[in-house]
Amino acid sequence: MANQEDNLFKNVISHAKEYGFIFPSSEIYDGLSAVYDYGQNGVELKNNIKEYWWKFMTLLHDNIVGIDAAIFMHPTTWKASGHVDAFSDPMLDNKDSKKRYRADVLIEDAIAKLEEKIEKEVEKAAKRFGDTFDREKFTGTNPRVLEFKQKISDTNARLKTAIGGADMVALKQIIIDLDITDPVSGTKNWTDVRQFNLMFSTEMGSVADDANKIYLRPETAQGIFVNFLNVQKTSRMKIPFGIAQIGKAFRNEIVARQFIFRMREFEQMEMQFFVKPGEEMKWYEFWKDKRMKWHQALGLGNENYRFHDHLNLAHYANAACDIQFHFPMGFKELEGIHSRTDFDLKNHEKYSGKKLQYFDSEDNRNYIPYVVETSVGLDRMFLSILSKSYTEEKLEDGSDRVVLRIPVPLAPIKVAILPLMKKDGLPEKAKEIMNELKFDLRCFYEEKDAIGKRYRRQDAIGTPYCITIDHQTLEDNTVTIRDRDTMKQERVKIGDIRMQMIEACSINNLLRKI
Ligand code: ATP
Repeated sequence: MANQEDNLFKNVISHAKEYGFIFPSSEIYDGLSAVYDYGQNGVELKNNIKEYWWKFMTLLHDNIVGIDAAIFMHPTTWKASGHVDAFSDPMLDNKDSKKRYRADVLIEDAIAKLEEKIEKEVEKAAKRFGDTFDREKFTGTNPRVLEFKQKISDTNARLKTAIGGADMVALKQIIIDLDITDPVSGTKNWTDVRQFNLMFSTEMGSVADDANKIYLRPETAQGIFVNFLNVQKTSRMKIPFGIAQIGKAFRNEIVARQFIFRMREFEQMEMQFFVKPGEEMKWYEFWKDKRMKWHQALGLGNENYRFHDHLNLAHYANAACDIQFHFPMGFKELEGIHSRTDFDLKNHEKYSGKKLQYFDSEDNRNYIPYVVETSVGLDRMFLSILSKSYTEEKLEDGSDRVVLRIPVPLAPIKVAILPLMKKDGLPEKAKEIMNELKFDLRCFYEEKDAIGKRYRRQDAIGTPYCITIDHQTLEDNTVTIRDRDTMKQERVKIGDIRMQMIEACSINNLLRKI
């Protein structure tokens, strides 16, 4: 990570804590690694993101309904889904530092270093040749660059084969051949590579034997698959239709770092869309487009999103891509869109012995539907919004301000109501306004401190509007409304505030733009 971005990320993390968005879990005991709690402002932002997603999926698509399945599921679920056998990361330890790493991540980091080396060669040559420099020609002919390129493509090919074949020995050999050293100890004293299952398990009931072992779900999707027929029959939906769900998932991530980007307990917003076999690619494209539009409507900058096709397809997919976002540590996965074929339903049929088929009255036949999934991490959505909206500004008068330019409909608090002074009947008037607005909008009332200080505090938590009640209010029933982003103030009649604020802050209006 470049230094500037590194600092930005650190500032975002400390800002999130200082202003009640995110706290380390059980902090008084020094925290729990990769587990976080959402504070008073964090929970509001999180709820607003959920509402934005839930309404988009279930209100705007009349063939999608929601469910809320339990976190615990019958253990056979995870046999059928492939998670018991295949949901694992290849890990190895450095014997000197005692640190554990994901083998594929170490290799990908080494590839990134080779790419950096190419860039350095290009920069050097560009300086040497000046205006006559031809990048394409240089990278196509320079022997050093060609050597690096060859190494990158060889390594990518070996990595793909090793991961595809779950070949731990081959992975270790790549690490040896690339001369990868531990960033902590600086040595190459590695253990063998082993598969490490990411599911958390616990015991159900009072007897702690293996038969009672159950898992905390590592994804919410399986709760949808096992309820597929329950929902289809009781809702009488016809294919194509979808089932949406928001809920917690748990993964014992080994390389758990980067704040709420990779957590051990996190939340997913998933939708499984059931389609006729053979039509999955059409729906895969449909959902790629829809989901990208949903992200971009937030206004954080279209250039911050891109598609990234999966080269190594998961065991259940016949097509898959990510929507990546430009996080402070670079472009990384925000959402996954997967064409899961009939893998899950077919296996649940096999393991449960129950038919999970759909009767298509148009075709007059039974079949197991194919599935297109959209799966976005709620916490990663939160991080994308928080990190892009965090802005440090130098104002004209030379002072600094930190403002969270959170998309207005998602802001934790929509309106701050601030009597200019704590006397002359201003607080009473302010409370009258608050009592009118509080049914529709989350408001915050404050009468302490100078008004400038109060504005800054609201900027720091992303409150889009500050309503100030002053002496003129008592004379002509108008207030000033200050805009967070422009800092401009306009005088508005008290009678007009409610509609104006609802209009500006409505999630529904945001949805209309998609
Ligand atoms: P990664 O490659 O980053 O580990 P993944 O491909 O395993 O992610 P999926 O299984 O596709 O992720 O999960 C769908 C979504 O759930 C991801 O796009 C991400 O937003 C979110 N997610 C997955 N793992 C985590 C985690 N440990 N912490 C927070 N969010 C997560």
